[in-house]
Amino acid sequence: MNDACLFCKIVARAIPASIVYEDERLLAFDDINPQAPTHVLVVPKRHIATLSDLAPGDDPIVGELVRRAAAIAADRGIAAGGFRTVFNTNRGAGQTVFHIHLHLLGGRPMHWPPG
Ligand code: AMP
Ligand code: ZN
Repeated sequence: MNDACLFCKIVARAIPASIVYEDERLLAFDDINPQAPTHVLVVPKRHIATLSDLAPGDDPIVGELVRRAAAIAADRGIAAGGFRTVFNTNRGAGQTVFHIHLHLLGGRPMHWPPG
């Protein structure tokens, strides 16, 4: 755990969140400032700051993040209509919390290109 990290604190239950899914390696919770009817963040429990910090041994956890987002989309009934998954990496791309998180957005039409 990184004591300075907001999402590590959510994983440790030191800060409350609306938990959507949990297993030994992952946590998913509702974004506090939702940008769509479904806006869930899927995070590894282990602290990894950005995608640039991933090591080859992290490939399984990245796969689990992506497959879990798809499973949550299916559970929410938004998979067939379409959903978006986003990793923002570093400040210029909008990353504000430096613990990797997959944004799952859906439940409304999604436009392209994103802002
Ligand atoms: P990013 O800007 O890609 O780093 O995404 C960080 C996300 O975390 C934003 O969408 C925020 O709304 C969200 N967020 C910040 N604080 C919390 C919190 N305490 N609980 C849930 N989501 C949060
Ligand atoms: Zn962290």
